[in-house]
Amino acid sequence: MNSQLTAYITLVCTSGVLNLYLCLYAYVKRHHYTNIAYFFIFYTASITIYCFASAVGLMATTLEELKFWTIIQYIGMPFSPPLGLLFIMQYLGIRITKKGVTALLTIPLVSLIMVATNDWHHLHYRVFEIDPILGAPYVHQEIGIWYMIHGIFIFACMFVAFLLVIFHWRETAKIYRPQLISLLCGQLVPMLTAFVYLIGFTPAGIDPVPMVLWLSSLLYLWSINISRMFTIMPVAKDAIFNSINDGVIVLDESYRLIEFNQACKNMFPPLAKSMFGLDFDRVWSMLSGSSSPFKLKKAASTWEMQLAADHLERIYQVRTSPLQHANNSKGQLIIFTDITELKRLQVKLEHQAYYDELTQIFNRRAFFQQCEQEFFAAKKDSLPFTVILCDIDYFKRVNDTYGHHVGDQLLVHVVNVCQTQLKEGILFARYGGEEFVLALKGWTVVEAEVLANKLRKQIETQPLLTTEGVISVTLSSGVAEAMEDTEETLHQLLNKADKALYSAKREGRNQVQVYRESRNDY
Ligand code: GH3
Ligand code: MG
Ligand code: MG
Repeated sequence: MNSQLTAYITLVCTSGVLNLYLCLYAYVKRHHYTNIAYFFIFYTASITIYCFASAVGLMATTLEELKFWTIIQYIGMPFSPPLGLLFIMQYLGIRITKKGVTALLTIPLVSLIMVATNDWHHLHYRVFEIDPILGAPYVHQEIGIWYMIHGIFIFACMFVAFLLVIFHWRETAKIYRPQLISLLCGQLVPMLTAFVYLIGFTPAGIDPVPMVLWLSSLLYLWSINISRMFTIMPVAKDAIFNSINDGVIVLDESYRLIEFNQACKNMFPPLAKSMFGLDFDRVWSMLSGSSSPFKLKKAASTWEMQLAADHLERIYQVRTSPLQHANNSKGQLIIFTDITELKRLQVKLEHQAYYDELTQIFNRRAFFQQCEQEFFAAKKDSLPFTVILCDIDYFKRVNDTYGHHVGDQLLVHVVNVCQTQLKEGILFARYGGEEFVLALKGWTVVEAEVLANKLRKQIETQPLLTTEGVISVTLSSGVAEAMEDTEETLHQLLNKADKALYSAKREGRNQVQVYRESRNDY
């Protein structure tokens, strides 16, 4: 074996060993890595097979041996460019489907079959023989139609992978650039070598590509070490950054816009990369049409902000916090959380907690909360305080005759009629099923009785008109005034009004009764 051949074999073996190392390294550490490591393992494994088969092929002495090792080479070689492309696509966060993987690996599989069965059809190599001048292991080959398809395909894979990396160059932070350089060279080195081989500038009769693959392997090793390829990836960072539902804006130490994520772009559509480097006050006025409420602060802060977007009011929780970069310069992080729905829900829940769903007036709980305050305020200011309890007469009959839904309509009707008679400052609530309560701060029992009678008359004279007919109802009420200078509680006062109401029912309904201490027949 001549020394030139020995040098070739050494180079090819070096490529093989380095790729084997990369493959095993990624395999052993695969659990620490994101799943891009898997494509990398197959990618480097295919190159390893290619290199070692090529090295053994260079020691072949017969045509049979050469053919055999060429077939073994093809177990790796045609698969490595599409696997490299898949690896780069995954690295860059491009979605890969199972169909896509199958499609990309079909042509290499056909190439392998073609080479293995070439003696029968000669579609891959029209001629494949030992070089008549140089002898084994140099090969004289003339390419067939499938070789062309295979060649175009692997070139295309490497070229597309190369372009994908180039397109991501600009948006990748500097510290990740070594990763991109190694990815670029991983594609460029074999591509250029194969090109130079095809135009005939490399030693005749042997494939030079495996001799140069050690170079890209060394670059991969370098980038794994220097920028922790596979553990920290620009795409992973981008993917996380852009998958956050909160809008994130990053400002530099001079208060200029340097970064924003997709969610922020969705919140503020005019936001564009062309605004990078602009003073944030200016950016903010472009986004919101108002002056900036943000200030470069040392301490973190949180507040709420209302903004109109597409004529809709949206509420954001805004968190700002100072940002400490690795190089110690300070910037600012602004995080927007859309809390519009949360606020709406809060308002709705608050409403449900205090208002009666059917009649939309205060419920019992809200009544007691408010009434306790007014009751004490009246006591403190020595003001009279009166309550009226009203109950619809024979309401059950309405339900029984017309159905529950008409009963509901009647309850709403009674409330509406009452409300037309009530002044501001009167507390009006649904006390129970068909019972209502009024609390009147500053009203004497005489005034309250007048009001109760007014309500009674209104209800009596305004029947409910329904599709099932005209429904008339009447109202009975009990009125009670709080006693001055006593320890009487609100519950005791309501109890007195209840007694008076009971008396009104007993005396024939459709009337108002006032509680009197002197009466003892309640
Ligand atoms: P009285 O004159 O003695 O007050 O007789 P009444 O029939 O009005 O009183 P009763 O306490 O016997 O019946 C009250 C009825 O009110 C019973 C209950 O089913 C009905 N009710 C309570 N809440 C609602 C409601 O929200 N909607 C409807 N449709 N009916 C209700
Ligand atoms: Mg009733
Ligand atoms: Mg009742």
